[in-house]
Amino acid sequence: MIPFNKPYMVGRELEYIQQAVASGKISGDGQFTKKCQRFFEEKYGFKKALLTSSGTDALEMAALLLNIGPGDEVIMPSYTFVSTANAFVLRGAKIVFADSQTQHPNLDADKIEVLITDRTKVIVPVHYAGVACDMDKIMALARKYNLFVVEDAAQAIDSYYTGADRIRKPLGSIGHLAAFSFHETKNIISGEGGLLAINDENFIQRAEIIWEKGTNRSAYFRGEVDKYGWVDVGSSFLPSEITAAFLWAQLQELNNIQNRRKEIWEYYYQHLSPLQAAGYFRLPVIPDFATNNAQIFYLICHNSDQRDKIIAALKAADILAVFHYLPLHQSPFYAPYHDGRTLPFSDKYSETLLRLPLYYELCRADQDLVINKIKVAVQR
Ligand SMILES: *Cc1c(COP(=O)(O)O)cnc(C)c1O
Repeated sequence: MIPFNKPYMVGRELEYIQQAVASGKISGDGQFTKKCQRFFEEKYGFKKALLTSSGTDALEMAALLLNIGPGDEVIMPSYTFVSTANAFVLRGAKIVFADSQTQHPNLDADKIEVLITDRTKVIVPVHYAGVACDMDKIMALARKYNLFVVEDAAQAIDSYYTGADRIRKPLGSIGHLAAFSFHETKNIISGEGGLLAINDENFIQRAEIIWEKGTNRSAYFRGEVDKYGWVDVGSSFLPSEITAAFLWAQLQELNNIQNRRKEIWEYYYQHLSPLQAAGYFRLPVIPDFATNNAQIFYLICHNSDQRDKIIAALKAADILAVFHYLPLHQSPFYAPYHDGRTLPFSDKYSETLLRLPLYYELCRADQDLVINKIKVAVQR
């Protein structure tokens, strides 16, 4: 059986968890949390990094930090995970869904401006499969209309964007805020886990307070205030040291994990290219301004029938390939609130995108099997 995903353990997770336990401090914001946060700040230049219990939590923190409330509008792709939208819906905002690009599931930056009203407060680009959205265009709109940008970088660890200034910028370092996920389906994992990256310094102090249940506990432990109390809204967004210890082990193997995943991704691409050339399906497109972090390998099928056929052929060989998002503008929960615009490319990716197994331990023989089963299925 070839699963769709298999969480990869680098080997030192238990050793670090043992250290956390032996230290007598297993709640949040201890030595492993600080090590992980420093890693992100130093490697990717985030002004401040705060570990969270999930990517979902990081998005919810972003919505709280931006004081989102009823009447506010937030622009995001429809082709994304529910958490992107939920974080803002929980605060009472209205979601204005933008369509995907013709060539990529990412939101189409040229279709955003017409959606901006005087109630628009935030744009949330989602870097699907770790591939950058067109950030120059999005940041220019944010400047022109005085909006915030929250990058949903849940899938985008260690991936980059190079804009007109030719400077290669890590995803998550461009918007005012960004959310990452360490869910077991992502490249770097901690079971459940996430990170809020803060690039606008004005948010740092309040972010720490929201993170610590609305108290100024972090400042107290640094000796900056002589007692701590309830100073703002907040929740318990920080993970335990057990989670942070696990994550620390993973982060030390980041390059190794990324390289292996890219190798697998390239092998799929190379060996499925002849089928793309023969017109059987399309392979992922990586724009010149983006890098590939091998989060997801996918095919764009001709239609849902062809996709069903491939899924069934793989399943018969005990291989699990899966489709991805159902468009949020058509979801049972949000369809009644959607403004009625059709979003044809969002629908298209929902009906035709198929993700193939991609995990560190996927061996060559298994990958060949996946490729061959697809070959047979599409040519039948
Ligand atoms: C995984 C993911 C999330 C949510 O992250 P969790 O850590 O599972 O809460 C949000 N947005 C996108 C695009 C994701 O892929």
